[in-house]
Amino acid sequence: MAVSSEVKAFLREDALRRFLSYVKVYTTSDDESGKTPSSEREFDLARQLERELREIGLSDVETDEFCYVYATLPASPGCKGPVISFCAHLDTSGAAPGENVKPVFHRNYDGGVIAFADDPDLRLGPPDSPELSRFVGEDIITASGKTLLGADDKAGVAEIVAGLAALKKFPELRHPEIRVCITPDEEIGGGTAKIRTEKLGKLCYTFDGGEVGEIETECFNAHMAKIKFIGVNVHPGYAKNIMLNAGAIAARYVAALPEWQTPEHTELREGFFHLLKIGGDENEASIQFIIRDFEAETNQKRMVFLKSLADVFMKKYPGLKVEVEIKEQYRNMVEVLNNALAVVEVAQKAIEMSGVKVIRKAIRGGTDGAKLCFMGIPTPNVFAGGLLFHSKREWIPVVALERAAEVFVNICGLWYEKTL
Ligand SMILES: [Zn+2]
Repeated sequence: MAVSSEVKAFLREDALRRFLSYVKVYTTSDDESGKTPSSEREFDLARQLERELREIGLSDVETDEFCYVYATLPASPGCKGPVISFCAHLDTSGAAPGENVKPVFHRNYDGGVIAFADDPDLRLGPPDSPELSRFVGEDIITASGKTLLGADDKAGVAEIVAGLAALKKFPELRHPEIRVCITPDEEIGGGTAKIRTEKLGKLCYTFDGGEVGEIETECFNAHMAKIKFIGVNVHPGYAKNIMLNAGAIAARYVAALPEWQTPEHTELREGFFHLLKIGGDENEASIQFIIRDFEAETNQKRMVFLKSLADVFMKKYPGLKVEVEIKEQYRNMVEVLNNALAVVEVAQKAIEMSGVKVIRKAIRGGTDGAKLCFMGIPTPNVFAGGLLFHSKREWIPVVALERAAEVFVNICGLWYEKTL
């Protein structure tokens, strides 16, 4: 059963109003701070959300000391379904400025180039973001040219809160018990660092994806490798057959990796080695890589390669020490979601019910959902509607807010009846 036009109109107005208010709150997370939340300013939006969730009439509304906002909506009478959760993140990326965001409407988009009032050199058109062509005639929101917009992920937050408001306002919209969690610090990889999974349901959906219709059930397998080179130093004038220049050798090590397996030469399902840092001198040098692939086995081969290459270098330069340290960062959530197909099917059905074509995608990155999956809560990622995240050209079509909020309502309706 699709939602009524009255509900749709409510969702459109409510999600948009909340979105415009959230993007104005400065919530850039800070990857240097080492704390949770990484910046105190994230509490400003957390407290606002806490107030709004109370106003809507949710119970057990709480902002904890780590800036996680939790709230519960009890099930409609007669519900058979499990307790379900929704997550979105309130911080924005540090990759572009996030203070004093001024959302700008571009009404009835004509398919051409969008200009930015605060930066005459900045342009946005279909060559930058081909998805724009699908929204000709729609209203588009961007920032003014000086900042990112923050649709990642304030669109997701607004869609969830608007959906909850609709469930309260229209009791004919049935739903199971819903536990919502809005998190800080997703952009610095800490969105689930202090999450209390006992406050969540048996399954969860993050609203943090891109284009309308997207559902993501796969992400990278991710590792971080630190490689240290310890050389032998003497006066360069008398160094023949003695010096082992750690810095120079580290550079040769990097050069020995296949160039075609780097982010700048890969796409779709291809994995890579990505050099993050290189530094050092004759005595000691270190390099840092991230290693990514959808297939765990292929990533494993990359790690074996790094270690074997280290051995080759130690043989080639007797006296050189190379230490390889590898850590897992996150895993491909498909491992978990393949055993929780109902969770994914409900989201797909909910998207179809809103009249949108389902786009299955694999995230070339990570997601809080992946972490939650391995904490025992299957969590696919649903679209929030924004595009060109983390940049001054970030944009969202207004219609995306309404569609995603509708998908939220549909997911709730489907889980009202369905058992796990
Ligand atoms: Zn995000």
